[in-house]
Amino acid sequence: MTTMTTSLGMPSFTRPSPLSAEEAAERTERLAAIREGRIGTVHSWELVTAVDGPGTRLTVFLSGCALRCLYCQNPDTWNIRHGTERAVEYVLKRIKRYKKVFRATGGGVTVSGGEPLLQPRFVQRIFAYCAERGIHTALDTSGFLGARASDDLLDHTSLVLLDVKSGLPDVYRETTGRELRPTLDFGRRLASRGNRMWVRFVLVPGLTDGVENVEAVADYAASLQTLGAGGAVERVEILPFHQLGRDKWAELGEEYTLADTQPPTEQLVERVRAQFLARGLPVLRA
Ligand code: SF4
Repeated sequence: MTTMTTSLGMPSFTRPSPLSAEEAAERTERLAAIREGRIGTVHSWELVTAVDGPGTRLTVFLSGCALRCLYCQNPDTWNIRHGTERAVEYVLKRIKRYKKVFRATGGGVTVSGGEPLLQPRFVQRIFAYCAERGIHTALDTSGFLGARASDDLLDHTSLVLLDVKSGLPDVYRETTGRELRPTLDFGRRLASRGNRMWVRFVLVPGLTDGVENVEAVADYAASLQTLGAGGAVERVEILPFHQLGRDKWAELGEEYTLADTQPPTEQLVERVRAQFLARGLPVLRA
């Protein structure tokens, strides 16, 4: 809305011109398509091997995230408006191109972000398509919006990459700006219904590396192994902090508070690894 100043110095508002009937209909249809997941907002794509799931993966990064992790390496995905709206058919066509690669490598499709569960219906359509064709699917999520994932979506999810960013609520809040509880609840729901997962933990010296914080993550991961049929956690990945995302924060004009933080030492990684191993968890250091 445009503001103008009247002769009395009071602001007055000029109304935006009304939409034509055709424009209004188009807008209604677009909003319905977004709601139903026929259209989604995509940030970027990447073909990767040996990360984000088994084999060669087409990783689709969706835009928008509810968290603000201090170490985020993709802050350019935070704002959903910074992505490109794509019809789901456009994404499915791309996936189709790599079917042979997926088959040959035991790979598949990973939907990441940002936070994919900001657009659950879009993800659901992508995964349903993959599942029908025997393509492996992985959902890379913080779990904060896990309540938005329908059972149907999870039925079509081969693997969940669950980022447990901290084990203690106050450290989680400091790290992400949000609450820990929804992630814990989501992990339990996954384990109870038999979804396989890789638990991921970003190890940041001075932030997430406290002994008690790691103990809490490890205890939680171990507790998931006892739910449902058991053994839902196929792997724990310790991801050492690095500075690769730093320039993006500067470009976005965001304050980056970890500028002086160093990657964890080998010794620290070993200590954390031992904490997970002590609970019988299968640990992989990425
Ligand atoms: S959840 Fe992922 S994308 Fe969102 S702020 Fe954290 S690291 Fe960044």
